[in-house]
Amino acid sequence: MHVHIFWDAQSPAGLQMPVSRKISAILGVLATPSENHVRMMGYVTERRQIDAAALLDSIQTYKHRHEIDDPILLVVHQDLFKTGSSFVFGLARESTGVAVVSSARLGNEYYGLSGSDDDLMDRIIKEGAHEIGHLLGLGHCSNRECVMFKPDTLDELDRKKKQLCSSCYDQMAISLGTSK
Ligand SMILES: [Zn+2]
Ligand SMILES: [Zn+2]
Repeated sequence: MHVHIFWDAQSPAGLQMPVSRKISAILGVLATPSENHVRMMGYVTERRQIDAAALLDSIQTYKHRHEIDDPILLVVHQDLFKTGSSFVFGLARESTGVAVVSSARLGNEYYGLSGSDDDLMDRIIKEGAHEIGHLLGLGHCSNRECVMFKPDTLDELDRKKKQLCSSCYDQMAISLGTSK
């Protein structure tokens, strides 16, 4: 099992390796970064957002064409929405092993606060690990400190720790076949 993390060309530089390493540690699977070659579909000019479902379709097409069996997470800098939600931090499609995360609302600047690379990196790690967690079979968790808790706000995202709770961790080990 190996997870690909694709980064769009305008994602913040210098985060790729540390984010991948930390996500690998949280989930217990190897995640490696690479440049994105998936076509950026789903941009809606009036909303200045990307339709996350359309982008997942595009990742799926790429995955199929290149015969990639492993899960793929794409990190983009544009804001994402899905039908019924004004925005989403990320979205996963478990059935085909594709997910997307947006860094648009993960920087302090978006909220009028002074920027912090550490904050941005922590949030991309949590969101990325969360969506990949879905791809590896985990659902949402009611533990507010667990990576698999579904945050609706930045505060809720920040309250989470960069780890799975023990119950999600056990479940992950079972789904990966690494449990004792
Ligand atoms: Zn989720
Ligand atoms: Zn949990």
